[in-house]
Amino acid sequence: MNDNWKIETLAVQSGYDPENGGPRVTPLVQSTTFRYDDAQSVADLFDLKREGFFYTRLANPTVDVLEKKMAALEGGVAAVATSAGQTANTLAIMNIARSGDHVVAVSSLYGGTVSLLTNTLKKFGVEVTFVQPDADSDTVRKAFRPNTKALFGETLANPALIMLDIERFAAIAHENGVPLIVDNTFPTPVLCRPFEFGADIVTHSTTKYSDGHALAVGGIIIEKGDFNWKNGKFPELCNPDPSYHGLVYTDNFAACPYSVKMRAQFIRDLGVPMAPMNAMLTNIGLETLHLRMERHSSNALKLAEHLQKHEKVAWVNYPGLKDSPQRPMMEKYMPNGASGVLCFGVKGGKAAGEIVMNSLKLAAIVVHVADVRTGVLHPASMTHRQLSDEELVAAGVSPDMIRVTVGIENIDDIIADFDQALAKA
Ligand SMILES: *Cc1c(COP(=O)(O)O)cnc(C)c1O
Repeated sequence: MNDNWKIETLAVQSGYDPENGGPRVTPLVQSTTFRYDDAQSVADLFDLKREGFFYTRLANPTVDVLEKKMAALEGGVAAVATSAGQTANTLAIMNIARSGDHVVAVSSLYGGTVSLLTNTLKKFGVEVTFVQPDADSDTVRKAFRPNTKALFGETLANPALIMLDIERFAAIAHENGVPLIVDNTFPTPVLCRPFEFGADIVTHSTTKYSDGHALAVGGIIIEKGDFNWKNGKFPELCNPDPSYHGLVYTDNFAACPYSVKMRAQFIRDLGVPMAPMNAMLTNIGLETLHLRMERHSSNALKLAEHLQKHEKVAWVNYPGLKDSPQRPMMEKYMPNGASGVLCFGVKGGKAAGEIVMNSLKLAAIVVHVADVRTGVLHPASMTHRQLSDEELVAAGVSPDMIRVTVGIENIDDIIADFDQALAKA
């Protein structure tokens, strides 16, 4: 890998450097285990004294390529791939917050993350305080407690498409000595690189644009590498780990202590690695990420502009629209495109919206976003079904909201499909 490579080249070539005579394409290493000549080598691997592969629950060469590529794309030092995006967000928090701790989270989040924070992590003793994405900085500061361990947000929230003012939130997190964790699933590193604006940890559901073809569920956590874990708030990173003969992550792995701890403790004990086959499929997806994001963004903008002019459409939300309230933040954080997801409401509300959804032919009703095919979903009755009415409002989900994941088909065909469906409403 060349340090000067631009993102398009990194997407195609980083993470894998074939040796002389080696396969040009990243091989699928579909093996749970690896052979060694002597017992000491394996003992050293177990003790993290040397790098290598011994059991696919902890590390695998195909998964390793994906981790290196995603770290390169985001501009981080290390990455850990997981079985799902949910796992990535769970581990990103659990790695630094334990029972008795607290996190602050921005309220406009993916429904699964809201549920994770309010229900499941709470059962493990981690409390959460939500703040509005547009809350003034003092209100955000007041949400912090002495036991707060992280600030969590989403670059471009799914599905309300509210952008996070990464720089402002990063500054507040750092004033409080905690990292800013950003779920960057929707923009992908092609459209926004949160580390450049002060984020410390980035997560992805690779199930979405990284894979991009709706083939494989997966997640990843990337570490930027310059957060000061020795500020007194993170003893588990700086004190000897009894489960590794007293190893100290910040000393023994000073470049990426957060990632090593996560793999050594949580990937090991919870058993949630990404499967090699899924890493291979995701890696193939990444090879065209830069091309796809360009087309997803331009198609979504054209569809949003068209729907905005349509007499049967009540409202359209797409951060790339000229009159979007998100536009200034979009110009700062995602100047090259606003990604491929838009939301709209049909005049006549939920019932009329349902007719439109059922009448679409090219666009399918799918519980998915961010693949090459255009799809629609009704968040209030699908992905965000488990949320209370207040939680729906906080997440920016109105009862009539239709979320469109705009694919990379020909835009005229996509627009024609929405026109014929709207004509029936
Ligand atoms: C889908 C999604 C997740 C959850 O990822 P899975 O791969 O479905 O587990 C988390 N965050 C965002 C923003 C998502 O869109």
